[in-house]
Amino acid sequence: MRTSKAILTAVLLASMSAAAQQAAGSQPSAQPPAPDATQTAQPSQQAAPATEQPAPAQASQSAPASQSAAAAAQAVPIPQPAAVPAPTTMDQVVNLFIEREHGLIKMLSARTPVVETYLQNLTADPQLGPVPSEDHYFLGRLDMGETVDRKDYLKEEEKGMQARLLGGFHKLYKVQYQPMGFSWMVYADRTDFDREHYDFRYARREFLGDVRCLVFDITPKPKSGRGRFLGRVWVEDQGYNIVRLNGTYVPAPRNSYFFHMDSWRLNLIPGYWVPSFIYSEEGDFSAGVKNKLAFKAQTRIWGYDLKKGGKDDELTQIRVDSVTDESANAQDASPLQAERVWQQQAEDNVVERLTNAGLLAPEGDVDRILQTVVNNLEVTNNIDLPRPVRTRVLLTSPLETFSVGNTIVISRGLVDVLPDEASLAAVLSHELAHIVLGHNLGSKYAFNDRMLFSDEGTYQNLGFKHIPEEEQAADKKAIDLLKNSPYAQKLDNVGLFLKALQVRAPQLNALLTTHLGNPLAEGGTVNRLSALATQGPALDNAKLDQIAALPLGGRVKVNPWDDKAEMVKTAPVAITSARDKMPFEVTPFFPRLARFGTGAGQTPAPTTAAANSTSGN
Ligand SMILES: [Zn+2]
Repeated sequence: MRTSKAILTAVLLASMSAAAQQAAGSQPSAQPPAPDATQTAQPSQQAAPATEQPAPAQASQSAPASQSAAAAAQAVPIPQPAAVPAPTTMDQVVNLFIEREHGLIKMLSARTPVVETYLQNLTADPQLGPVPSEDHYFLGRLDMGETVDRKDYLKEEEKGMQARLLGGFHKLYKVQYQPMGFSWMVYADRTDFDREHYDFRYARREFLGDVRCLVFDITPKPKSGRGRFLGRVWVEDQGYNIVRLNGTYVPAPRNSYFFHMDSWRLNLIPGYWVPSFIYSEEGDFSAGVKNKLAFKAQTRIWGYDLKKGGKDDELTQIRVDSVTDESANAQDASPLQAERVWQQQAEDNVVERLTNAGLLAPEGDVDRILQTVVNNLEVTNNIDLPRPVRTRVLLTSPLETFSVGNTIVISRGLVDVLPDEASLAAVLSHELAHIVLGHNLGSKYAFNDRMLFSDEGTYQNLGFKHIPEEEQAADKKAIDLLKNSPYAQKLDNVGLFLKALQVRAPQLNALLTTHLGNPLAEGGTVNRLSALATQGPALDNAKLDQIAALPLGGRVKVNPWDDKAEMVKTAPVAITSARDKMPFEVTPFFPRLARFGTGAGQTPAPTTAAANSTSGN
């Protein structure tokens, strides 16, 4: 127990420094006494991270990651670019990266990754600078074939207009964001990236992370058409692939505008740099500018290696495992056993279906941390369940938890914004309470016909919302569990988090709109664990050591190729003003780029620019 707790704290500390400089000494000294003895209920998770403990994992993680990526690469053959002689002129370099861009477009044309855009409109706050005034959320599948297109998980949209409008939004009666626009910048130009349409000018050399790049400015030739890329690209100097694009599109059609965007690619498979993160931002808060549109948005792409089921694309293949009878003298299941097997079947179906839809990360590093926290709650409360509680990470940004059977699911966005382990324990305790109280939802999903729907239909076909009475009972039980746990002395932090959430909730409706589970807040009012909401000190922006909630993207990083999630490791960055706190906010991406197989991070962390520029790892 003691060992696993030490590991946990190390990992959490390493990861939480992305946005927060903790008050000195508060973390280690507040370490709760390790619950002894009852270690039998421990799931088999504690051994694995031990080797990584002192200096958080580097090399040890790269091997499995690259192996699985290689295996995936074999499943769907990916043509390897031919070796090229080293270019001797910049003109040759331009030819090479134009050719490589066409190679990337071709390789990805059969892929339909998941694409998520989360956008915050901004307004000026005298103390905090630009803060969110409202938000928008888009989630869909990106068809990277002939014309880049997307299908939406959330609702049917009008086609046509958005297909014509690249990377921008319409301004008719009100501003209408085009979800497609945010994902357009996966390429500089899908159809005409060549010397007939563009001028290329070498600017300089620059390192991005571990990768040496040649930087080029690109301008469309006169009269080359609408919506052409204008900006800068970074080209790595071994395979001559574009690894970053930064700019906009010109000229804009009437009544429409194009965003400015910063688009990053990762070397997730040999020979290719895959579009992964796009940051967009518009707005000007300088004196004299009349209040016009301002926003910032993060677009994430993942699920490149999701299986695409040929002609029957609409129906996902279901693999039905036979249930083996493990009892010594094979007997028929008692009614209670049958009920449990039935529930487990439903749980397994849902977990598998959500994973195939690109919404759940495969079991991995983050789950070990989550399970350790759940285990801390279980052991100290003498909870002994017939089956161990499992955890999985929902890959999306909205703040959400739910449980199905004995599996607790927590969204990436929620793990990101939680300030500490106690707050993580608090949100997990609510779902653990549902499990302990037997509030089992979803047994209807043991019928396999209920798993037969298109990926885009996931939110219409699955749901795990409890009735209000069960929600209240779970909150009450959760607080009992917390008060009897190693986190009992740190519930002030949970109270602070809930206060910070309440302050921002009215402006963050999209972030708080859940798609599968019960929301943490409704109508701008936080209702989860409300008994803890008054606990702890008052929220005070001026107190720089008071970190109530973190920005999005600071904790969990997802490998866009295989969807594996792991904790971000970044060096601490000192907070120097209240504006640095940015609770629940979108920030630019600044992944530390590394070449495939070099181990320095298969999935470099999307962190804030500030975090990256000072990190020394
Ligand atoms: Zn609940």
